[in-house]
Amino acid sequence: MTESGKTKQAKAGEKVGPGKYVCIDCGREIKIDSVDKDLVKCPTCACETYDCFPITHIRPDVKTPDDAKHPPKR
Ligand SMILES: [Zn+2]
Repeated sequence: MTESGKTKQAKAGEKVGPGKYVCIDCGREIKIDSVDKDLVKCPTCACETYDCFPITHIRPDVKTPDDAKHPPKR
C-alpha cells in the first residue's frame, strides 16, 4: 500500500533511519543522521509521535543531511 501525499508518522523507540522528525504536539524538530539511532521522546513535551520526513535524495556521495543541502561537486 502506498501513501503518497500523506505524511508518515514514527514513534519514539523505533529505529527510523536518517531524516527529519517533527513532534506532532509541539513541532519540535529532531534530526536523525544515523541508521542506528532510535527516535527518542520529544525533549520538550515528551510526546512519542513524530511526523516523518525521510531524506529522499540520497546519492552515494551524499551521506549527511548537510551534504544533501550542499552537495559536493563531482
Ligand atoms: Zn513535542
